[in-house]
Order: sequence, then C-alpha cells, then structure tokens
Amino acid sequence: MARTIIVSNRLPTKVRRTDDGLAFAPSEGGLATGLGSVYQQGDNLWVGWPGTFLDDEAEQAHVTQQLAHDHMYPVFLTEDEIRDFYEGFSNETLWPTFHYFPQYARYEPHLWAAYQAVNRKFCDAVLAVAGPDDTIWVHDYQLLLLPQLLREALPTSTVGFFLHIPFPSYELMRVLPWNRELLKGMLGADLIGFHTYSYMRHFLSAVSRVLGYSNQNGLVEAGQRTVLVDSVPMGIDYDKYASAAASDEARRIEQEYRQAIGEQVQVVLSIDRLDYTKGIAERLRAFELLLQQNPTLHEQVALLMLVVPSRDQVEQYKQLKEEIDELVGRINAAYRTITWTPIQYFYRSFPPEELAALYRLADVALVTPMRDGMNLVAKEFIASKGEGRGVLILSERAGAARELADALIINPTDTAEVAATLHRALAMPPDEQQQYLASMQAIVRRYDVHNWVEVFMNRLAYIKIKQQVLA
Ligand code: UDP
Repeated sequence: MARTIIVSNRLPTKVRRTDDGLAFAPSEGGLATGLGSVYQQGDNLWVGWPGTFLDDEAEQAHVTQQLAHDHMYPVFLTEDEIRDFYEGFSNETLWPTFHYFPQYARYEPHLWAAYQAVNRKFCDAVLAVAGPDDTIWVHDYQLLLLPQLLREALPTSTVGFFLHIPFPSYELMRVLPWNRELLKGMLGADLIGFHTYSYMRHFLSAVSRVLGYSNQNGLVEAGQRTVLVDSVPMGIDYDKYASAAASDEARRIEQEYRQAIGEQVQVVLSIDRLDYTKGIAERLRAFELLLQQNPTLHEQVALLMLVVPSRDQVEQYKQLKEEIDELVGRINAAYRTITWTPIQYFYRSFPPEELAALYRLADVALVTPMRDGMNLVAKEFIASKGEGRGVLILSERAGAARELADALIINPTDTAEVAATLHRALAMPPDEQQQYLASMQAIVRRYDVHNWVEVFMNRLAYIKIKQQVLA
C-alpha cells in the first residue's frame, strides 16, 4: 500500500533529557496539528529530528522504538551538525537571506558543506522507510536539497515540497552563492508550494534567471520533468482556537487579567518569537509615538507584549533582546504612573489556555513584522474572537495580509502610520469592528489547516496525472 511520509527538520514530538531519563513532549507549532490527521493514519510516518542531541546508541534505539509507536522515525543530528547545519546554514544563512536581512547572513563554505551532508542524511533516513510508490511531503528551508536527492534515489516517487518562510525576490537570491544548487534541489519535487502568489512569482523568476527554465501557468519545464509551482496559504486549526477561547477557563483567566489591568484600559496585544524579522523594536517606537502624541490615551491603553525566547545565543538575537529591554524600560519609565504601566512585557512562552485568554482580552492585535512567511498569530486572534470585538493591525509584509485584506494594513517601517493606525483602531466603533472581524473569520474558518492539507495533496495528485499526460 502506498503511504504518505512527512519530512521536516523537527518531529512533532520533542525528546528532552530530564533527571529521570528521557521525556517525550509534543513540540509547539501549527504544523503538528495540521499534519496530525496525515501521519497518524495507516502506515504513514513523519521523519525528522527529535530536537535533542543524543549520541548514545542505546538511547537512540530506545527513542526510535518509542517514536515508532506514534508513527515517527528519528534522524539523529550530531552536535557539529546542529551547530553548522541547523543554527549555521539554516538559521544564519537562509533565514536572514530569505527574510531580506542579507547583512545578517553568513556565507561560509563549511556551513554549506554541513547543509549538504545533513540533507543527504535526511535522504538516507527517508530511503530507509520509503518505497517507490510512496508520497513524500518535505517541509521548509532546512531541507531545500532533499527533493532532488529523493528524485535521484526514487525517480518515480511523488514528492511535494512546501516552504513556510517567504521566498525572496531574485535580487536576494542572487546574493546567495549556492542559489543554483538550492533551486535545483527544490525542483526535484513534483509540486512546490508557497504561502503567497508573490513568493511563487519570485521563485519562478529566480528559476528562469538562474537556471534558464521557462514556465507557464506555474508549470516549470525542469529538464525531463514538469514541476507545478503553486500558492497554497497555510491555515490554522480554527475550531481549536475558537473553542479554546470560548472555554470557561479562558473566560475566567480573561476576567482575572481584566481586573488587574483596569476596566477602562484598552489592551493592545503583541505576540512573537524573539526575531529581527518581527519588527518588535519598531513596534515599540510606534507605541511610544502614540503616547507622545496623545496624552489623553495615558492610563487608557496598555501594550501587552509577549516575546517568546528564541535563538538567543546568536549575536543578532542577543542584541535585539537588549534593544527591546532598553526600549521597554525607557518608555515605561517616561510614562508610567503609580496605577498604570504602559507596556507589560513578558520574555517567556505562555500555555495555550493563557494565550486563549489574552486573545479574548485584547482590543487590538498589533502584528507588524518586517517580513513573515505567513504569521499565524494574526489568524489565531481572528479565530479566538467569536462574536466579540477586536481590531487587527497587520503588516503588509506578512503573508497573512494577502488573505486578511480587512485588517488595518500598515507599512511596519512607517512609525507614524503605525501610531496613527493604532489611534484609529482604539477609536473604531464596535459595529465596524464586528463587520471586519466577521468577514475575516469566514476566510480563516474556511481556509483552515485541514483545507490546506487537502488542497496541497490534491494539487500533488493533479501534477502526477498531468506529467503522465505530457510525457
Ligand atoms: N505561541 C506559543 N506560545 C507562546 C506564544 C506563541 O506557542 O507563548 C505560538 C502562537 O500561538 C503561534 C506560533 O507560536 O502559533 C507563532 O507562529 P507565527 O507564524 O506567528 O510565527 P513563527 O514563530 O512561526 O515565525
């Protein structure tokens, strides 16, 4: 029987070392929920790294056996591979380049060598479990070379690839010394999916300029094969967020927070991982400008800012953390009163029931990344609002802005525009808020994560048939 095999850098389960031995816990993220319905079916499998360095053979065997019960197959990375492939080439070369921060990128041959070697290692792992008739769905920027490696080993297999981050314009790709190899690596897939039409166009343009392959209607003539390139925006598990926010627990926590903050204070919510792509410092400056320009808003508005720790061993992230700490300190010191704190800042992650309560509580969600492949927080806020009220301010440079056209769309670099839009959002009449919310809820509900999986799989089946017709 043909199976579906999901491959991503991280498995949906994370192994942790504790005093009592190894512990297994679900990893965060929407991908695990979305693909849960796929990899847990029949003999399907998910191949990926369990998130911890394990070199002891007995431990590896134990982990492999445990994960097998849950349809997972681990790829073990060495400490050097974690440093050079994952933290190095993936997060310090591809991540900044693809998010338009080439000044932060390291272009170093030994990182590239590690990236190639680990992509081959993932290929070997997939080959250990996959057959020629299986459908293999590869995810994200850590595995750009894997589709072509699989194609060489299993020429007739069905391979899909989805990129979860932006695909940048050709000018950024041309900076990357290994652009040819990376594009060829992706083209080993039968279907290449992106969150937006722009990312797809950027990819097609890079393929044409770097490799000289032509395309028509998203079909690329890549040597002997036709590859389909398409925009398939990822959704969230709408029902999960809607019901979490409607639960008694979320209501209870919301009330508790509301009392602590004050009944009259409007809450602006900001949630991201610590990352220079998220525009956190610029957002703080916009909030500062709002307070500067509008003394009547003092004691009437609070920014609740959650920053989830991430990659904080990397120099740029450390610097960003210091910049945020300093800005928050300065703004709070300048404006706070005995009974009011303008910015409530948290540098840690929150459990799901508290996030649900925060989404309920927020009058405005302020989502202002400089670049973001999609941005799930924007969609989660919409889904959590039910029939309540709330305004979404969204960066034009988040993938989500293509679908959520009824948000207040801003340019995150334009501090004055962000401050003015915040002012507008805080004053928006309830019926107008509800109208915009309802129209965005209809979109987020309909194009949820289950629909995303279904559309991707259908497009993959379509291109396989099309290739036979063209052959
Ligand atoms: N999130 C979380 N714990 C927190 C704060 C956020 O699990 O304390 C989740 C949030 O609900 C969302 C994800 O982290 O699903 C962030 O996804 P997004 O696409 O916004 O950004 P990314 O971090 O993937 O760049």
